Amino acid sequence: MAATATGLCEFVDASPSPFHTCVTVAERLRSAGYTELAETDRWPRAAGRYFTVRAGSLVAWDATSAGTPTVPFRIVGAHTDSPNLRVKQHPDRQVAGWQLVALAPYGGAWLNSWLDRGLGISGRLSVRDGSHRLIRIDEPLLRIPQLAIHLAEDRAAVKIDPQRHVNAVWGDGRAPGFLSHVAQHAGIRPAEVLGFDLMTHDLAPSRLTGVGERFVSAPRLDNQASCYAGLEALLAARPGAFLPVLVLFDHEEVGSTSDHGAQSDLLPTVLERITLAAGGDREDLLRRLPASTLASADMAHATHPNYPDRHEPAHQIAINGGPVLKVQPNLRYATDGRTAATFALACEQAGVALQRYEHRADLPCGSTIGPMSAARTGIPTVDVGAPQLAMHSARELMGADDVAAYAAALTAFLSPE
Ligand code: ZN
Repeated sequence: MAATATGLCEFVDASPSPFHTCVTVAERLRSAGYTELAETDRWPRAAGRYFTVRAGSLVAWDATSAGTPTVPFRIVGAHTDSPNLRVKQHPDRQVAGWQLVALAPYGGAWLNSWLDRGLGISGRLSVRDGSHRLIRIDEPLLRIPQLAIHLAEDRAAVKIDPQRHVNAVWGDGRAPGFLSHVAQHAGIRPAEVLGFDLMTHDLAPSRLTGVGERFVSAPRLDNQASCYAGLEALLAARPGAFLPVLVLFDHEEVGSTSDHGAQSDLLPTVLERITLAAGGDREDLLRRLPASTLASADMAHATHPNYPDRHEPAHQIAINGGPVLKVQPNLRYATDGRTAATFALACEQAGVALQRYEHRADLPCGSTIGPMSAARTGIPTVDVGAPQLAMHSARELMGADDVAAYAAALTAFLSPE
């Protein structure tokens, strides 16, 4: 099944949290013949298609026809997390008769976009018996009402304070404790829940928009559009001269430093174990790394029609104009000339146009998993993406045609001819 804009909408709607993204990807992988390996097990020596999950991160690889343990890797990396609002440890508040759920921003959430929306709850409950339960409540339980315009001190510049202004109303005094409600929804006695990672999600379904349905309006396009395109690319890639790998990291939006973010040992460990399982040794691993290439796939800024001055004038990025190569001279992106050439060849092979992005030199530039994966593994890396608007909003916008073009370019990158 090829990547489509509708397929992306289904993927996003199935994946409100990083944990759910991993489940969505794992289900697709299993139905395509992939076998899940636990990191705590001894891994099989047999050739095959495999994946492993570490909390909100996942690595999958196709080792069906990798004859020797020195075949170089082609790796597509993306991230499973998106900025959102997360539930505080003591969530219950009462103010002026309202029952509130205390929330805190995760990553660079664009706070204004989270107001006046029906918000659901998703994430993970950690239970006394040592198990973890995924939870998802797709009901508009929470809502963060905006201040009335008549009460604003300064209508031209409404400031949203992350401590005081993003708590959600959910009851009028009759509601139970928030965590009790969530536990009951999961069929667990509240006292059994000893830890949780709970977050909010926009409940409006993803959909095609604009005249002729030329756009995708969805939450979490950054970076689930890349997870989806990377997954479709892995499933379409044909291993041969390279061994295709997909790595999806959690925690990119908060700097990637964790036991399973891009700064962790997850990718180096898995690459070493793939080598060992193929009968190779550490010397084989160290030989294959410099011959490998990693494409760090994260979303890119399309030129905004209402703010064209925020963009580098000679590097305009068109929506539905094809995948984007991201270059930044101070290495906020990992791309250099040689890895740019590798990706340009992949786009040529896929028959899609390539757009080249440079950030304005007078604006601070975001970063992504590219530079840290490159530093962690020593693998030459290219930063790429698909164009979108409204990055880090609760609701983002990309081109419908760009979904298939992005996946096609990543497929060609994973299995060059
Ligand atoms: Zn991103």
